[in-house]
Amino acid sequence: MITRSNVDLATLTTFHLHAVAPTVVDVETVDDVITVVSDIPHAPVLGGGSNVLVVHDVPDPIMCMRIMGRSIVSDNGQDVVVRFGAGENWHDSVAWCVQNGLGGLENLALIPGTVGAAPMQNIGAYGTEQQRCFVELEVVDRLQHRVRRFTKDECRFGYRDSVFKREERGTSVIVGVTYQLTRQHVVDTSYADVRMELEQREIMVPTISDVFDAVVAVRQRKLPDPAFIGNAGSFFKNPVLPLQQAQDLAITYPDMPQWKQADGTVKIPAAWLIDQCGWKGYRRGAVGVHDRQALVLVHLGGGTGRDVLQLATDIADSVQTRFGVRIEPEVNVW
Ligand SMILES: Cc1cc2nc3c(=O)[nH]c(=O)nc-3n(C[C@H](O)[C@H](O)[C@H](O)COP(=O)(O)OP(=O)(O)OC[C@H]3O[C@@H](n4cnc5c(N)ncnc54)[C@H](O)[C@@H]3O)c2cc1C
Repeated sequence: MITRSNVDLATLTTFHLHAVAPTVVDVETVDDVITVVSDIPHAPVLGGGSNVLVVHDVPDPIMCMRIMGRSIVSDNGQDVVVRFGAGENWHDSVAWCVQNGLGGLENLALIPGTVGAAPMQNIGAYGTEQQRCFVELEVVDRLQHRVRRFTKDECRFGYRDSVFKREERGTSVIVGVTYQLTRQHVVDTSYADVRMELEQREIMVPTISDVFDAVVAVRQRKLPDPAFIGNAGSFFKNPVLPLQQAQDLAITYPDMPQWKQADGTVKIPAAWLIDQCGWKGYRRGAVGVHDRQALVLVHLGGGTGRDVLQLATDIADSVQTRFGVRIEPEVNVW
């Protein structure tokens, strides 16, 4: 366990916004986590800092999740169950699976952050969510100071959602996640961008490796790299509306894309709503809206978390005024 003092959170988060944490503790084992939460039960935990907007200095000691490791739990020749330490890098873990012929997570390549944060909001991209391969996870319970397990059912995954964003919010620190991968590959090319990328490469029967490469290429083209432009990916979630409200909107806005969900609700792309309100490419001082992806708010250097939050509020207000739909942040505001 390594403790650092007066850390600039710009160095630990992908928005690269300046804020000070008097104490940051790199937790490398389950015992480290238990030691920290025994002292300060509510100590915040940071993975790769790619889904956090820091608007204030953080007075409490922050745990930086650094529990590493990868172990094969079982292998029946077809399916392989692998347990990852929560501090493992997500993209590297997906790449390791693909390199070892294990399919299931390849559509989630290049999502920044750690394995431990992936179940928090049930990360998803290009037609897949992490729950597709999820088996179980282990947490340290902040109050009982012991390890607990959550099955897939208990995690209650939804769209950018899990029990850890609701009933279990703030109760646990995820220390390990187990996924079931397979050697019997079923590639998912349902997403148009991925399909077009494969077609351009003249790949008609893609392998998991081809899909992985295509997803990486599409993402590199479409999304700003946080190493160069501060951002946290999609700032807002796509709103999910009751069927009647979606039908009413379709009468006024026949061009509005609408995605019917299995439960009868309708998902509307927040990027379309924001774009229609004229925000794409907008700039206000050191912050703005990305010029190729209206869902991504950017920090160009020298801004504050409050600048980003104010811009996000103004965007959400304008969408509400025009469409009567409230868009909610996907990013966690600290
Ligand atoms: C360029 C870019 C593209 C992105 N694309 C996608 C995408 O396609 N799909 C998608 O779903 N997301 C995407 N994201 C968002 C982000 O990468 C994911 O949500 C990722 O899982 C966050 O991981 P992290 O380790 O950085 O979490 P952090 O930002 O460090 O933390 C996020 C939240 O989870 C909590 N947390 C983190 N680790 C733990 C833990 N071990 N135990 C308990 N709580 C924890 C934190 O307290 C915080 O509230 C993108 C972000 C960027 C910058």
